[in-house]
Amino acid sequence: MTLDAPYQGGCLCGAVRFEVLAFESKAAHCHCSMCRRFHGSAFSTFAGVPHDKFTWLSGVSSVKEYRSENGTVRTFCSECGSSLGFKSGHSPNALLEVALGAMDGDVPVTPDAHIYLDHGANWYQPEDDLPKYPEGRDSTELVTK
Ligand SMILES: [Zn+2]
Ligand SMILES: [Zn+2]
Repeated sequence: MTLDAPYQGGCLCGAVRFEVLAFESKAAHCHCSMCRRFHGSAFSTFAGVPHDKFTWLSGVSSVKEYRSENGTVRTFCSECGSSLGFKSGHSPNALLEVALGAMDGDVPVTPDAHIYLDHGANWYQPEDDLPKYPEGRDSTELVTK
């Protein structure tokens, strides 16, 4: 298994392609209602990417952004609806995160927490050993054992 950069990813229809040169170390499984709806699943898994380590390769004209009420911005393909990215706000400096499920292959990222579990689906409870937080990483960790 090689985990050398660059890491490529894209949407379901193939219109949108992008490349990541490096990921930031922290990644969480987010169970908040916005992430659940965005992915249509129990949780999202985004990993941070420094702005200068991310490049759109194709399909930028198909990339749409949705800004939710709290100002966070989610990026998706307007052709096939694939969830692609997250930004913590609208400013150019806002933290950029990439949906790990959109990557083509293996990536050197190991998610290290579950967050916003108080907002999670009742039909899915994570049973791994990762720390579990009711809200963000700064909330008091849930004790599940
Ligand atoms: Zn697409
Ligand atoms: Zn979330």
